[in-house]
Amino acid sequence: MSTHTYKITGMHCASCASVITKKLSAVPHVRSVSVNYGTEKAKIDFDDTHTSLDTLNGVVGTLGYTLSAIDHSGAAEPESVTKKIDEHAELKNKTNFILPIALLVFILMMWDIGAQIFTGVPNFPIPMTLFNTIGMVLATIALFWVGQPYMRGIFRFARYGVANMDTLIGIGTFSAYLYSMSITLIPLFWSSRMVPEYTYFDVTIVVIGFITLGKYLEAVSKKKTGDAIEKLLNLQAKNALVVREGVEIEIPVNQVQRGDMIVVKPGAKIPVDGVIVEGSSFVDESMVTGEPMPVQKKIDDTVVSGTINTTGSFVFRATKVGSETFLAQIVTMIEEAQGSKAPIQALVDKISSVFVPTVLVIAGITFVTWLSVGSIYLGFSQAFSFGLVSFVGILVIACPCALGLATPTAIIVGVGKGAGAGILVKDAATLEKLHMVDTVVVDKTGTITQGKPTLVKVLNFSRMSDVELISITASLEKKSEHPIAHAIVRYAEEENISISEVSVFESVQGKGIRGRINGTEYLVGNRILMSEHGLAFDHVAIDEYTAQGKTPVILATADQVLGIIMVADEVKPESKQAIADLHALGITVVMLTGDDEKTARYVASLVGIDDVIAQVLPQDKREKVHTLQKNGKVVAMAGDGVNDAPALAQADVGIAMGTGTDVAIESAGITLLGGDISKLVKAIRLSNMTMRGIRQNLFWAFIYNIVGIPLAAGVFYPLFGWVLNPVFAGFAMALSSVSVVSNSLRIKAKKL
Ligand code: ADP
Ligand code: MG
Repeated sequence: MSTHTYKITGMHCASCASVITKKLSAVPHVRSVSVNYGTEKAKIDFDDTHTSLDTLNGVVGTLGYTLSAIDHSGAAEPESVTKKIDEHAELKNKTNFILPIALLVFILMMWDIGAQIFTGVPNFPIPMTLFNTIGMVLATIALFWVGQPYMRGIFRFARYGVANMDTLIGIGTFSAYLYSMSITLIPLFWSSRMVPEYTYFDVTIVVIGFITLGKYLEAVSKKKTGDAIEKLLNLQAKNALVVREGVEIEIPVNQVQRGDMIVVKPGAKIPVDGVIVEGSSFVDESMVTGEPMPVQKKIDDTVVSGTINTTGSFVFRATKVGSETFLAQIVTMIEEAQGSKAPIQALVDKISSVFVPTVLVIAGITFVTWLSVGSIYLGFSQAFSFGLVSFVGILVIACPCALGLATPTAIIVGVGKGAGAGILVKDAATLEKLHMVDTVVVDKTGTITQGKPTLVKVLNFSRMSDVELISITASLEKKSEHPIAHAIVRYAEEENISISEVSVFESVQGKGIRGRINGTEYLVGNRILMSEHGLAFDHVAIDEYTAQGKTPVILATADQVLGIIMVADEVKPESKQAIADLHALGITVVMLTGDDEKTARYVASLVGIDDVIAQVLPQDKREKVHTLQKNGKVVAMAGDGVNDAPALAQADVGIAMGTGTDVAIESAGITLLGGDISKLVKAIRLSNMTMRGIRQNLFWAFIYNIVGIPLAAGVFYPLFGWVLNPVFAGFAMALSSVSVVSNSLRIKAKKL
């Protein structure tokens, strides 16, 4: 079994998605199918030893859909792209042709209606027979050329029993056409008393005109919702300047190989990921991190594809090329996120799948009711024409098109908007979940603080000098990856303090480290580590510093404490505001840290954090998150994603703070590039915005149908004399799709 994602062409509406899903799910060896109308993609899990793309295409091909493979960079295969462009151009041509005609007919209709109601309006200027004849010709073109997809919808319904939105419009407009045709033609051949009082050619023309316009506008805006990826792909440099055998040559970026030396001139785009080996510069990474300030890059620093060099120049060694580059991975991730389904969509899908058949039944019942009950009061001919108008109106207004667009378009815009601001969302479910979060758990080091502690004080209890004390500690810390270790090693290097050889080394998770130098066993770590070894030390002296937010690093031998090095990590300038913003959103902030209790409390008080859970071992962080969840909290956990991974996974939403660019973007539900906690606030706002957009969309999509169907059915006729002209049904239907897509697009313009 393996999962494949394919591009689908030929989809016209949300109900197509459910038709495709149903048909593909029935194919043997297919385990699961998920079709997204918004992105026009299908995710199919099938056994590829028993079935293939061809088989699947055989099944959906007869219904007018095509599945095609997607290449790794995310762009669809050339064939499907051209097909898409053709479809787009065709839709545009049809709109340009039918719209002026539809508008003219619409005005004439209004005139005719107006002349009958108001005395001031002059009589309809065109003789009815002429109007009918012209109408007949235009309606024929409208139906069989412009409205081809809808005619195919009827055919499909008749042949395969699958009904979608096209079927509804097709049956609706075709019925109006057929009726008008018969009352126009029958009197020519049979002398009949059935005079063509009123034909509905105009309805056919105007409905098809409006719906085609709606489809076109929808296609245009749908393209706009997905332009975040296009923007990212445009960041990709086309060529790279590589040094081969001592000479600089320009080659296409896809020919760059790992290990190539690449020259970056001022103002040039960085073509692949790599490490600088020569020169230095400032690099504008705003397109990947959302941070406007260029970042300084020196030898050994990493650079990533898609970013732009400013004024300096440098040479770097390519470490990641092609689909492994940061940019390529982000694009893939965004694409997958945009194509994923929000849980709320499941309900919508269920509704759409029963919607079309239900509407057909309602329309049928309505027609029969008009004929039977209406005839008693209005006479057959009048009742028949009301029945037909209602039948057509229901079919047209009930199209679940807006319903199908409501969720995916908002998700596409939301995910894309996030990407532009350095907020990478893994899937729609995460984005949906995030707006329900009421508790945010943050790591102290690197999240609230800079994550770059510095040495601020040495308390020496030994007969050694401070330098010797630092030397021993730094030698041991050289083996550790902890930010505290870096602080001490950096200090030693800056002060030219010698580093000795460490023989046995062991890191004690969440407490410190131990190792042997020249045969002596040392411990470096926090109070817990010391207490566990029964070592006494001056708590009071330590408290004086921890109360000011300093972290104690205690050095001891097996039988006594030698000294304490205090390190301090500065609070990030944006932390305080970000915490205040979270509070304003009604969210409780909890700091979870392995650091000393007092130190943690002090830092928490600086930034206004409500709750502190300190001295937690890495393996216990997950448990603490779980406890919060058991108490009914919906928890988002922000951490560095390295030793916090289990806690991130446990949280309802795991948020990785990516400092630098080598973040594991797959490790969390949300990755905040640039590692800035104020982005967490933005991410939550983005989620709120997107969910609000979805709810508004669903509301509008439903309201059109809830109000429209009874109105079109003529339910209000006995009360107020209201019947909905199918022309307005067509207009309302087009408007609903367009308003849903525009509402989604509005998210793009909003401030995060
Ligand atoms: P956090 O990521 O919240 O700092 P850790 O589990 O990484 O949590 O560390 C918890 C505590 O253990 C640190 O605050 C520090 O006191 C101690 N510690 C961990 N590693 C080291 C180390 N290499 N040197 C000194 N102390 C350490
Ligand atoms: Mg940590």
